[in-house]
Amino acid sequence: MGKVTFSRGGIHPRDCKYARECAIEELPLPKTVYVSMVQHLGAPAKPLVAPGDSVKVGQVIAEPGGFISAFIHSPVSGTVKGIAPRKNLAGDPVMHVEIAVEGDEWDPAIDRSGDLVTDIPDDKALILGRIKACGVVGLGGATFPTHVKLSPPPGKVADCLIINGSECEPFLTSDYRIMIERPKEVVVGAAIMQKVLDGCHCVIGIEENKPEAIAAIRAAVAELGYPDIRVQVLRKRYPQGGEKQLIDAVLHRQVGSGGLPIDVGAVVQNVTTSFAVYEAVQKNKPLISNILTVTGDKIPAKLQHNYLFRIGVPLSFVMEQAGGIPDTAAKIVSGGPMMGKAVSNLDATTVKGTAAVLYLSEAATRRQKESHCIRCGKCADACPMGLEPFLLNRLYKAADLEALEKNAAQDCIECGCCLYSCPAHIPLLDHIRQAKGQVMGVIRARAAAAKAAAEAKKQ
Ligand code: SF4
Ligand code: SF4
Repeated sequence: MGKVTFSRGGIHPRDCKYARECAIEELPLPKTVYVSMVQHLGAPAKPLVAPGDSVKVGQVIAEPGGFISAFIHSPVSGTVKGIAPRKNLAGDPVMHVEIAVEGDEWDPAIDRSGDLVTDIPDDKALILGRIKACGVVGLGGATFPTHVKLSPPPGKVADCLIINGSECEPFLTSDYRIMIERPKEVVVGAAIMQKVLDGCHCVIGIEENKPEAIAAIRAAVAELGYPDIRVQVLRKRYPQGGEKQLIDAVLHRQVGSGGLPIDVGAVVQNVTTSFAVYEAVQKNKPLISNILTVTGDKIPAKLQHNYLFRIGVPLSFVMEQAGGIPDTAAKIVSGGPMMGKAVSNLDATTVKGTAAVLYLSEAATRRQKESHCIRCGKCADACPMGLEPFLLNRLYKAADLEALEKNAAQDCIECGCCLYSCPAHIPLLDHIRQAKGQVMGVIRARAAAAKAAAEAKKQ
């Protein structure tokens, strides 16, 4: 099959994959780690340790706080020093477990050998149990607990598992490195998830600008010989990694407003999640580490890295180990330039989903002077969700929540394509993101009221 892509909107920003040739290096351990209890979508985890406790690498330190939540494990060995709120990236206080690092003693149940394990357990419940027990969450950005996503609700069936290797955000190279350095583990992880989903079809989608990754994953698929897994080359286009866009590209199916991938028979997982599933199921290794890219524009090659980091390491430590903050950095972002979050607190710690530390120069961050909308429609043409950003912007300014909901502000995936395309430099993304938050608040309140009314009626 030839190259495919999604059918609506999208943009073509410059790649800027400057760190693509940087092999994965292991980041040294700091003296102290701070492990956040909020590093997945859903309810915060509940700590199971107390100050003074000794912990080993991989030991459970927090349990899920609800159905949509995840276990958290100690990324280091040492002594728990405290459990207290600490500021996250945005500067909001979040509960963290502070651990003083002593040595590097691992839970002996973890298989730390480099041996590839290709025999997949037959028991679906056992596989899901291991994924849950190892705290695996989606590492493509959403951090949704993986065991929940792999358990379709009654009446829904997945006929296709899509593994997302598009890595369409500029600058990011961690997915690329995992695909070329650990392709077989990624493919075994995909086969494990395929088995959980009753042997459905599996497609690994990779953008055309990563020929080495396409070759490596294709070779692994051919060598391992699992049935019904294929690699699909995608045309380079942002935001191809969005779930709805990837499903459109690969399966030509449209997920409707407010719908989920499973509504059209699809489950999407990232390549790094696939790797984490492999480690959980085949090596009994919890999600205590991930890969992040340190990169930026106008920075020397020696400051560019792809690090295997332990979760809970402060961002300031990552930057120090990577050679320090470059003089040219006007802004530091956690994640990519399109969907990442500005770092307002350098002491914030890494979490399961941390994908990058990005330094942007003054030229890259300079906001052009905003002018009036000229009704050119470029923002609507670029929107991959079929929204009308100019209209949503107007409704946001008028604080018309009813009309915002009617015009599907809640469907915005915050990709930034509208902002990127607007010749009037209107801060569309900022406004629509805020509008979406307000509309979501209304929708949630309405759902809670309806639930309460239904329960009252039953009594
Ligand atoms: S940020 Fe939202 S409104 Fe703007 S292009 Fe992306 S999905 Fe559309
Ligand atoms: S791209 Fe900007 S100027 Fe053009 S219609 Fe949209 S908001 Fe208006």
